Amino acid sequence: SPPTKYAVVTGANKGIGLETVRQLANAGATVVLTARDEKRGNEATKSLHESGLSNVVFHQLDVRDAQSIQSLANFIATQFQRLDILVNNAGASGVVVDEDRLRALNIDPATWLAGKAVNMVQDVIITTYDKAKECIDTNYYGVKNVTEALLPLLNNSTLGARIVNVSSLRSELSRIPNEKTRKVLGDIETLTEEKIDGILQKFLEDLRDDALEVNGWQKMLPAYSISKATLNAYTRVIAKKYPQMCVNCVHPGYVDTDINWHTGTLTVTEGAEGSVMLALLPNGGPSGCYFDRTNVSEF
Ligand code: NDP
Repeated sequence: SPPTKYAVVTGANKGIGLETVRQLANAGATVVLTARDEKRGNEATKSLHESGLSNVVFHQLDVRDAQSIQSLANFIATQFQRLDILVNNAGASGVVVDEDRLRALNIDPATWLAGKAVNMVQDVIITTYDKAKECIDTNYYGVKNVTEALLPLLNNSTLGARIVNVSSLRSELSRIPNEKTRKVLGDIETLTEEKIDGILQKFLEDLRDDALEVNGWQKMLPAYSISKATLNAYTRVIAKKYPQMCVNCVHPGYVDTDINWHTGTLTVTEGAEGSVMLALLPNGGPSGCYFDRTNVSEF
């Protein structure tokens, strides 16, 4: 039988991440299900064990916490000495729901949040500075820091390492009004991590100065959109630097999960398909690409 693949999935206590663990474990991989909350992570792991998937282990990981990242890297080094698959799935939306506005509209916030009466999403979500910062720290710096900590172990993979970064269609460059930002992020020849940092710093300054619109940032979910656009750019930088690996990013589809208050139309089974396909790519498969579900697409 082929050698066991060792995989890590971030933000895997629920939603697309949990389903990604299930599908990878079903395919025979030994999967480290990670979650920032021990209780939620242990419960998710237990549910997979009860469904017969014994090849799943839990380890705590908050992608915004350097110590937590180091502890995961130490765990994998001790247990497996290498890593074959990293799925950077954890994500934050960068917005809060304006519950007062919901009440003013005569809508019960609890009902709305459970996806029972979701409408007017644009009208009731607010981008605050703190939420935007959390979003960028999770979706961009979280992925970068986790990847950097696990790269030595991915480099030890004899099977050909795979990195999958879960992105969004909101990352697509054609959606960024500012031409310069679009150019910097789209020019793989000159792209650097420093340039990406500069873009995120400018975004946060413009948010603080109430200058998002005038400076051409996305109108809908601005922090989330730029966090995922920069994540795609990072994906290309890492793919170029590690040609022996397959490093790709993927829009999972519009999936029914908590992150969109259950407005999504696809099931998590469908939403995990892109991540799983890219995690299990054969040697010589695509790298440095963006996928819309299972199809390669334009950045
Ligand atoms: P969920 O809200 O169900 O899952 C998000 C997961 O990320 C949760 O497990 C959450 O943990 C975790 N997370 C958030 N912050 C951190 C952190 N600091 N450290 C570790 N884990 C963290 O949403 P989805 O399953 O839909 O989202 C999965 C990915 O798919 C995200 O990257 C999202 O941006 C992306 N995506 C989803 C789409 C959709 O339609 N659903 C569309 C496009 C992209 P906790 O439970 O503790 O909050």
